[in-house]
Amino acid sequence: MDAKNYVETVLEDVKRRNPGEVEFHNAVAEVLHSLTPVFEKRKDLMDAAILERITEPERAISFRVPWMDDAGKIHVNRGFRVQFNGAIGPYKGGIRFHPSVNQSIIKFLGFEQTFKNSLTGLPMGGGKGGSDFDPKGKSDAEVMRFCQSFMSELYKHIGPDVDVPAGDIGVGGREIGFMYGMYRKLSNSSSQGVLTGKGLTFGGSLGRTPATGYGLLYFANEMLADKGESFKGKKVTISGSGNVATYAVEKAQQMGATVITCSDSAGYIYCKDGVDLEGVKQIKEVERLRIKEYVKHYGGEYFEGCANIWDVPCDVALPCATQNELDLAAAKKLIQNGVKFVVEGANMPCSLDAMKAFQEAGVYFGPAKAANAGGVACSGLEMTQNALRLSWSFEEVDEKLQNIMKNIFKNSKKAAEEYGYKDNLVVGANIAGFMKVATAMMGQGLI
Ligand code: NDP
Repeated sequence: MDAKNYVETVLEDVKRRNPGEVEFHNAVAEVLHSLTPVFEKRKDLMDAAILERITEPERAISFRVPWMDDAGKIHVNRGFRVQFNGAIGPYKGGIRFHPSVNQSIIKFLGFEQTFKNSLTGLPMGGGKGGSDFDPKGKSDAEVMRFCQSFMSELYKHIGPDVDVPAGDIGVGGREIGFMYGMYRKLSNSSSQGVLTGKGLTFGGSLGRTPATGYGLLYFANEMLADKGESFKGKKVTISGSGNVATYAVEKAQQMGATVITCSDSAGYIYCKDGVDLEGVKQIKEVERLRIKEYVKHYGGEYFEGCANIWDVPCDVALPCATQNELDLAAAKKLIQNGVKFVVEGANMPCSLDAMKAFQEAGVYFGPAKAANAGGVACSGLEMTQNALRLSWSFEEVDEKLQNIMKNIFKNSKKAAEEYGYKDNLVVGANIAGFMKVATAMMGQGLI
C-alpha cells in the first residue's frame, strides 16, 4: 500500500470505529493528511501500524458526577478523562467545563494535545478531560461541590507520574484550587505535581498567566527573524482582549510594535497610534465592561461586530480570541491589504480555507499547535518545579519559555524542509510533534 492509501484507509477506519464523533474525525484528518510525506520515506512506521495505534486513545474514562445546588436540588453531569498517549511522559492536558463537552470533543482535544505537548520538548504525554457542567451563573459553593464530586472519581486515575490535568474553558484558578484540595484529602498526599495552574501559595508557577501570549510573540518573533525582519515599527492587529490577547499586546509593544486593535465578542477598537494596554486591562479585567467603553476614556474608534477587525490593514495579524474567528473572506481582505505574517494565538482561529489562502499567497503562517504552546510549556515547568520542590523566579521561567518557543519554531521549520515543504509550519509542526511520539512508541515495543 502506498502512503496516501495508508492514510486514507486509517482515516476511514477511524470514522467507522468512532461513529458520530465529527470533531475527532476532523482533527485526525487534518493531522494525518499532513503526515503523508512521512510514510513515503518511512515504510517501517506503516508496517508497525503506527497510525492505527496513535489514533486510538490509551484509555477513555467516562463517569457520573452528581452534585447538589444551593436550593437542595440534585443534578447529574457526565465527566470525561481521555488519556490519549503516554509514550513521552505522563498524560497532560486541560479540563473543560462547558455544556458542549462530549466524548468527541475531549478526544479531539486530547489527540491534538499529544502533538502540541511533544513539540514543547518537555516529557509530557497527551490527555484531556472535562464535563458538560456549565459553571456560568453558579455560586462559588455550587462550583466547589461540583469540583469535589468530579475529583472524587478522577483522583483514582491521575497522579504526578500518571496524568496531570490543568485548566481550560470554564476551569481557572478557582476550580483548580477546589479540585486540588479534594485530591489532597482523598489521596492523603500533597503531591503538588498532580495538577497545574495552581495558586502561587500551593505549588503554582510564576509566569504561567502571561505564558501563552508571551510565548506567541516569542514564536512570531522567530518567524519575522527568519525573513530578516523584526517587530520594531510593525503594525499589528490582535483580536480578543482576554488572557492570551492582553499578554500578546504587552509583549508586542515591548518588542517595538504598534498594536492597533483589540476586540471582544461584540466589536473591536482601532487606535491608529497604538492601543493603551493599561486602558484595555482597566476596562476588561478590572471593570469587566465591553471593549466599546475603552474609546470613551482612552480615545480611538469603536466598530460594532468583531469579524470586521480583519479589514484593518496591518503587517502582522495575531488572532487571539476564539475558534473560527478568521474565515476565507477575512483572509482575502488581509492578503489584499498586504499582511505578511499571520500567527495563531487562539486554538484554531483560522478556518482551513483561510489558512490555505494565506499559504498560497505567500503569507508566512504560524499554526496554533506550535505558536500557542507557551501555556502548556509553562505547565510543564510547573511540574518540574513541583518535582524539585522549588520555585523559580519569573525571570527563570520566562527565559526557559523563550528557549522552548525558539526550539518549537526551529524544529517545525526543520521538519517542513526535510519533507520538502519549505516555510509550511503547519505541516512542519505536525510532523515534528508526531515523529517524537512515534519514535518513543517504536522504542517501547508493541504498545
Ligand atoms: P479569554 O476567555 O480570557 O478571552 C477570550 C477573548 O475573546 C475575550 O476577549 C472574548 O470577548 C473574546 N471573544 C470571544 N468570542 C469572540 C468572537 N467571536 N470574536 C471576537 N472576540 C471574541 O480566553 P483566553 O484568552 O484564555 O483564550 C483565547 C483562546 O486561546 C482560546 O481559543 C483558547 O482555547 C486559546 N488558548 C488559551 C490558552 C491560555 O493559556 N489561556 C492556551 C492555549 C490556547 P468577551 O469578553 O466578549 O467574552
